[in-house]
This record gives sequence, structure tokens and C-alpha cells, in this order.
Amino acid sequence: MKNLIYKAEQTHSLSKDELILLLENDDCSEDLFQAADRVRQKFVGDEIHLRGLIEFSNICKNNCCYCGLRRDNSNLKRYRLSVQDILETANIGKRLGFQTLVLQSGEDLHFSLAVMTEIIKAIKSLGFSLTLSVGEKSKEEYLAYRKAGADRFLLRIETTDKKLYQELDPGMDWNVRKACLDDIKSVGMEVGSGCLVGLPGQTISSLADDILFFKQIDADMIGIGPFIPHPDTPLKDAKVGSFFLALKVMALTRLLLPDINIPATTAMETLAPNGQIKALQAGANVIMPNITQKSVRQFYQLYPGKSETNCACENIVNELKQKFEAIGRRISQNCGTSPHFIARSLKSLENTSTSENKALEN
Ligand code: SAH
Ligand code: SF4
Repeated sequence: MKNLIYKAEQTHSLSKDELILLLENDDCSEDLFQAADRVRQKFVGDEIHLRGLIEFSNICKNNCCYCGLRRDNSNLKRYRLSVQDILETANIGKRLGFQTLVLQSGEDLHFSLAVMTEIIKAIKSLGFSLTLSVGEKSKEEYLAYRKAGADRFLLRIETTDKKLYQELDPGMDWNVRKACLDDIKSVGMEVGSGCLVGLPGQTISSLADDILFFKQIDADMIGIGPFIPHPDTPLKDAKVGSFFLALKVMALTRLLLPDINIPATTAMETLAPNGQIKALQAGANVIMPNITQKSVRQFYQLYPGKSETNCACENIVNELKQKFEAIGRRISQNCGTSPHFIARSLKSLENTSTSENKALEN
């Protein structure tokens, strides 16, 4: 087991069977976390990037069986923030010292391309780096988001087990989701994806596939979250996902994709006391405090317990600074573009200029 961890740390590559062995066996998990921590330090450094999260609508046309925002959940008070509310929150984020904002929502058709473009442009004019997490869109829409200034997009694949996806995401299509990730990449945004860990019916073998999938799509950011059953969903009686297994999937992702950004997710903090600090010491380098206005925060209930976790207050940056210093880390002073995105952008520039030179030579 130790040899496998050593191999992953040196080569950033493991076979599916090797990943399964490491996921199934807990003997060397501490070694795994320490190796992921070293790789994190070597490739992305000691800085932690903060992203201010604005959850601007909990209305969703989809019906994902695991999610409290699913359209059939009639037990939830629905809200959508006005453009003005979103910008007010963005300004609070500015005052608190955030350099990146993440705008997340259910798939709410009210936020047409025209409305989204207006919001993106206004937020960019405040000087933020901007990540969107608003679900499946057409390539034209992704391109328009990019042109309006959006820098990054988060769309978790949730699971690479297509059969499980079909069961848990009724009316959706795994291949469409994968095609969305390709489109996000092709329009020039940083590509963020990730998976849930502990879905009912999910196997260790499929988690190994998930990690290999992240490498295959050449992701720039990956968020891993344990599944937490929501009482108003069809999965209410399912077993809660394991924090420890999610941490292992995250650590292995860091070993195989050494220069990407990896958040210590809110779901991890919800499940385990100090979960985010543990994640930061096992490969993570990003935290996303919630800056959504208090009046609606409780209604963005992807899973129970979430709204009390990770909420930004006036003193958030100072509090985090102290927490991070205690583990020898510091808050980043820049906007935290994924080093992997920078490297692959440079590579594609080089390729373009090489082919242009060749064309000139011919
Ligand atoms: N609607 C967008 C963004 C909001 S959902 C989308 O689906 O992409 C954001 C993430 O919440 C999802 O990708 C999913 O992985 C996570 N999530 C939903 N329900 C969850 C649950 N019960 N436990 C843990 N994470 C959950
Ligand atoms: Fe909607 Fe996203 Fe929840 Fe699915 S996971 S129901 S798309 S908010």
C-alpha cells in the first residue's frame, strides 16, 4: 500500500485496480493524506483561496433524487434574488475582502441568458474573478457567459456510473452532462467538476472511475462531497456518505491531478467537526464561505445541516486567517486561478504558434 502511495506521489498516475486497493484499504490512510498534503504544497503552495458563495435561487427544474432543491420537493420555500440583491451581496463580498465570487443556483429558467449576462458584467465590473455553477446550458450560452466575463464554471458529473446517474437524475442524461463539461472547456472557462461520495448503489470501483474521469477531462478544479440524505427526497432513508471515504477520494484526486484547485467542501464540514481543516491537510486548497443574505440562506437546502455551516460574518477573513495560521497556512492575496488552467492555456498557445509557424514555413 505504501509503495502505491509513493508511486502516486512521484508519477501522479495509478491504474483503476491500484485506486480500488487504496480506496478499499484503510491501513495506510494517514500516509495517503500526508502524501496528498505534500503534493498540494509542492504544486499549489500553502496559500488558501477564498471564494464568496452567493446562492441566488433555489428554484430548480430538475428532480435529482439526492437534492433538497429538486422540483418535486413541495416542502421548501422557494426564493430567487433580484439582480439588485445579488449585486448588494457582491458588494458585501468586496468589503469582506473576497476576490472571487461563486454564483450558484438551481436550474432556474427565470435567469435567462440576458439576465445572466447583465449579472456577470456587473460583477466583473466590481473587479471579481467569477465562477458560475448554474447547471446544464447550451454551448452558445456557455460562450456568452465567457464573453460577458465569467472565468470558471462548476458542474459536477456527480457519478461516472451511468446507470446510477440515470436512476438518480431522472429526465437527465449523463452524456449531455459530459458534453457540457467539454463545451465549458472549449469556450475557455476553467473547468470545475466533482462527484458525490456514498450515493446508494455507488461502488468503490465507480469511485475509482470518477477519479480517472477527472484526469481524463483534464479538469482545473474538483469538488468532492459526501452524500447527505435530505428528509424531503426519495433518498431520505439512505445511509449517509462517509466523510473518511470522501476524504480519501479527495486525497487521491490531489495525487493524480497535482496542480488543480480543490475545495474543502461544505458537505465535509457539515459531516465532521473540523472537516474542512482535515480536508485542507489532505489535499484541499480552497474554501467557499457562504455570503448569501441571511433571510434566504436557510432555504438553499441541498442537504440538511448545510445552512448553519460555513457562513460568512463580518469578521470572517480574520477568523479564517487565525484558523489557517494554526496549521501553517495563509490566505491568498490573489484571485487563485487554477495553476492547471494556466499551464494548459500556455500549452494550447504554444501549439497554436507552432502550427502557425509550420503553416508559414510551408
Ligand atoms: N444546480 C446546479 C448547482 C447547484 S447543486 C448543479 O446541479 O450543478 C450543487 C451540488 O450540490 C450538486 O452538484 C451536488 O453534488 C450537491 N448536492 C446536491 N444534493 C446533495 C446531497 N444530498 N448531499 C451532498 N451534496 C449534494
Ligand atoms: Fe437542481 Fe442541482 Fe439540485 Fe439537481 S443538484 S435538483 S440540478 S439544484
